[in-house]
Amino acid sequence: MIRRPRFNSLRARLTVLYAGLFSAGLLALAIVAQGMIERSARQTAADALAASGSVYDRLWQERERSLVGAADILARDFGFRSAVASGDAATIVSALASLRTRADAPYAVLIDMNGRVIGDAGPVSGKLAAMQGNALGDRRDAVVAVGRRASRIVTAPVLAPLEIGRIVLIVPLDAQEMRGLERLSSIPLTASILIRQGPGWMDRDRTFGATTPADRVFTLSSAGEQSFAMLKPLHGMGARTEAALLLAYPMDRAMAPYRSIQIGLVAAGLVWLTLIGIGSARLARSIARPVTALDRAARRLAEGERTEVVVETADEIGRLSASFNLMSQGIVEREERIAHLAFHDVLTNLPNRAFFRQSLDQEIARAARNGEALALLYMDLDGFKVVNDALGHPVGDGLLRAVGQRLLELSDNAFVARLGGDEFVIIIGEAADHSSSRRLAHSILDVFANPVMVDGREVTAGISIGISLFPEDARTGEALVRNADLALYRAKQDGRGVYRFFEQALDQQARRRRQIEADLRSAIRTGGLELRFQPIVGTSDTSIRCFEALLRWPHPIDGYISPVDFIPVAEETGLIVPLGEWVIHEACRVAAAWPTNIRVAVNVSPLQFRAPGFQAIVLQALARSGLSPSRLEIEITESVFLDGVDTVTDILHQLRSLGVRIALDDFGTGYSSLSYLRSFPFDKLKIDRSFVINIADDPNAGAIVKAILDLASALQMETTAEGVESLEQQAELQSRGCDTLQGFLFSRPVDAKAAGELIEQCYQQGRCRAA
Ligand code: C2E
Ligand code: CA
Ligand code: CA
Repeated sequence: MIRRPRFNSLRARLTVLYAGLFSAGLLALAIVAQGMIERSARQTAADALAASGSVYDRLWQERERSLVGAADILARDFGFRSAVASGDAATIVSALASLRTRADAPYAVLIDMNGRVIGDAGPVSGKLAAMQGNALGDRRDAVVAVGRRASRIVTAPVLAPLEIGRIVLIVPLDAQEMRGLERLSSIPLTASILIRQGPGWMDRDRTFGATTPADRVFTLSSAGEQSFAMLKPLHGMGARTEAALLLAYPMDRAMAPYRSIQIGLVAAGLVWLTLIGIGSARLARSIARPVTALDRAARRLAEGERTEVVVETADEIGRLSASFNLMSQGIVEREERIAHLAFHDVLTNLPNRAFFRQSLDQEIARAARNGEALALLYMDLDGFKVVNDALGHPVGDGLLRAVGQRLLELSDNAFVARLGGDEFVIIIGEAADHSSSRRLAHSILDVFANPVMVDGREVTAGISIGISLFPEDARTGEALVRNADLALYRAKQDGRGVYRFFEQALDQQARRRRQIEADLRSAIRTGGLELRFQPIVGTSDTSIRCFEALLRWPHPIDGYISPVDFIPVAEETGLIVPLGEWVIHEACRVAAAWPTNIRVAVNVSPLQFRAPGFQAIVLQALARSGLSPSRLEIEITESVFLDGVDTVTDILHQLRSLGVRIALDDFGTGYSSLSYLRSFPFDKLKIDRSFVINIADDPNAGAIVKAILDLASALQMETTAEGVESLEQQAELQSRGCDTLQGFLFSRPVDAKAAGELIEQCYQQGRCRAA
């Protein structure tokens, strides 16, 4: 499963990554800068506040001194002292009034020694009784709180010379007084008075805990506004502190000088951020561009296009691009190689069947357009299997290569292909006709009449050729090939090493073969085949020695079909194997009922030999029927040896060791009969009918039969002459010493019942004698 990233393109992801990283860095920087600015501002503000605090102290003392000074002057005034001593209230009051003005204090009173208060004490009226005596100690001033209001009081004793009263100046620490103080500060401060409450402080709307530090700068937040603040406790009467001065420096104003720096920083940050965004996008693009190019190239490659990418850098991506180019090149080369392999035969490097079929269709289309003719030569080596078996596969391969090469040379570089095995084709275009293809066929046959040199060794390779013409024989590639194949089949049948043109009759034969195949299949399935038995008799006494089992196929439409017609079809299709098995079983079953001195002979096709388990089939048939092995004779023809002599003689020896007899059928029609006679000691030779037909009137035929009979007697083989139809033939064969005879003269092949009757007659007539 592909994890789907939030950003689909590498470029977007890289942009976000870089921008994110740079922004985070910037943010960290901004936070540090902000922190530093904040700290420095705080420090500066605290310093300013601390400085202002000490200025305040001085102002505070200044005011005290001026108040004390003014009060002392009055206290020392002789007239005033007399007025106090005499209790002249009117004089005292007027003196106090002028003192108020002079000292700029709202209230001034005199407390005489009796505790009487003369004048208006304002906010501290109730508190003045406590001033009795020396409540302030050495101090001349104090701040006292009455309710929520604080007032500063300053005293001056009236001495005559002993104290006779005390002047008290009272200044309420109200808003006006505070504004007066504020105005004197160099920084924009707000000053206010806090009243003691329990262990802490309070003013009109705030309370401060006991932990609020004194004489130190701290941060105060009230009503959503932050300030730097400093608390200065004010001396009260005695040891008591009843009020404190709170100096506050609003942070807004303290920080104001730094705002522009911060705004500048933010603006620079924004500009920087924009630059980061643009830069990241460009960087990401420069990284992603070659990757995108690679992606596109890979897609094109997948679509089969040949592509390369430009290698721009020497870094990993550059190397990846170079590797991609190599890979693309490799893929293209391999594709070409595979395409070549797909259309060429590895061994001969000639076009293969697929290529041939394509080319043939193209050639036909072209010839049809131009009204031209084409010829197709279909070739098959004769006895290639023997070469392979006898000389080994490397020689076989070398032969195929040499054949391909020769065909190319001979055909003047026409289209030559190997269809597989030992099959080759040549397409001749441009006005090909009977005579031009005949000429080529002749020259091919001529060349292959001589041995071919393979690995310094002479190999004889015959070749058979079938030819079909376009448009004469067929109009499609498929039909043209089929017809050339039929012609080749015909050439093989006609003894190999020849060429044959396609004829319509071949097609009809092929059709018939196909029909026979289909019908034969169902006949085998439904048991529609019969066996006939033809007696083989002793030459001298015509006693029945043996019956040859011969297949008959009563076809529901075509009547009896000759084994000459259907056995080859059965062999071509492999049907001969199950069919032959049935024949052996049936023949043994029927023969088991005969007298024990009468044998049964069964024809066995080379294909049955080749199929595995042939001996097992023979054993089974003998066991099931109870027939003695010596009463079974197997007739084979020389063609079984075409598959290689050794394997066949092995099987023959094994059969012989069971006790089964082996006869060589159709002797004289084959290839090199004598050498086969040497390779296996047959029990019987059957002389082919073609020699028997003319034996009476053709001295040559008579001489051949004589030679065969002499040879057989020298090799101690029994002889049977086939196809004996006349008494002359019988007499001739008898005079030459043939052991047994078979032919219409004695009996046609008959069914099992009639065979039984023939045996009966034989005994009745005394020709046959019990064993
Ligand atoms: P074959 O083995 O040479 O069989 C002898 C053939 O000669 C038989 O032909 C037989 O009817 C025929 N024949 C016998 N006496 C005369 C005669 O006096 N004059 C003439 N003109 N012909 C005579 P059939 O039955 O048509 O068989 C033809 C061939 O079919 C056989 O030749 C044999 O090669 C093959 N065949 C028959 N039955 C079987 C079988 O069961 N298995 C195999 N593999 N081949 C069989
Ligand atoms: Ca036979
Ligand atoms: Ca025969």
